[in-house]
Amino acid sequence: MLRSVFRCLRTNLVAGQRSMSQSSLAGKVAIVTASTDGIGLAAAQALGKRGAHVVVSSRQQANVDKAVALLQGQSITVTGTTCNVDKGEDREKLVQMTLDQCGGIDILVSNAAVNPFFGNTMDSTEEVWDEVLSVNVKAAVLMTQLVVPHMEKRGGGNVIFVSSVVGYQPMQGLAPYSVSKTALLGLTRALAPELAPSNIRVNCVAPGVIRTRFSSGLWENEDLMDEFKKKLCIKRIGEPEEIGGVIAFLCSDEASYITGETIAPTGGMASRL
Ligand code: NAP
Repeated sequence: MLRSVFRCLRTNLVAGQRSMSQSSLAGKVAIVTASTDGIGLAAAQALGKRGAHVVVSSRQQANVDKAVALLQGQSITVTGTTCNVDKGEDREKLVQMTLDQCGGIDILVSNAAVNPFFGNTMDSTEEVWDEVLSVNVKAAVLMTQLVVPHMEKRGGGNVIFVSSVVGYQPMQGLAPYSVSKTALLGLTRALAPELAPSNIRVNCVAPGVIRTRFSSGLWENEDLMDEFKKKLCIKRIGEPEEIGGVIAFLCSDEASYITGETIAPTGGMASRL
């Protein structure tokens, strides 16, 4: 009897240690773009709480300073710099600064996006398409190209793209943005087999509506929200931390057999092509 209790205790202890070490990101260096607010900041928090050294960035120095102070206050190891992902020299500066200050790169969370247009697709201009595809898609590819050689030097890594549920089902009035998010689903599938031989997993999250400044036009409007909630199984919008946790999971060893996949934390909205 006593022996079986000890055996059970030992098994649970070993299982506990195993799950702790598998979710740990200690010793990893994580670049999260557009990470001074919203989902990017929550991803940085989730990665940092699991032990990663996180590198936060966005366009405004004041926002970077605020995010760095917030994360330091939570005992997270953090470095910050400005980076507009749409500018090649900013992307290079972000990567070089990470290498200089953190010694390598293990994780990229490509999170930046713009949505400058609402209206009929037939009225969307060339400028709109150029901006949306440049920030939301092209910059994600070019950031990945910059970091992958450094992940290879470390023996592997993780790339996460932040898409959206509208990548599966375009939202009316938001075609350019929706199409750019569909492109990230394809990019994930295209890169996963290319980078698997380098032990780099490529995954994607496609959130539903999450309470951030980006989506405030929807959740601040009670009538719109009442209508929108009809599409949800879980009758509330999501919180940024609920996406940060999924991203950290995908970067951990617990997800070691997942690549080329998109997880859609949407509260149960229809989310498949
Ligand atoms: P958010 O709370 O408004 O935060 C946006 C962040 O991006 C800020 O830190 C901002 O800081 C930075 N940023 C904006 N443009 C940038 C650029 N060109 N280069 C670098 N940083 C830039 O937005 P969010 O809702 O977290 O959105 C993050 C991602 O989640 C986006 O890809 C979005 O498409 C996706 N998403 C959001 C929702 C939602 O409901 N919120 C749903 C699905 C998907 P600065 O102003 O200092 O640059």
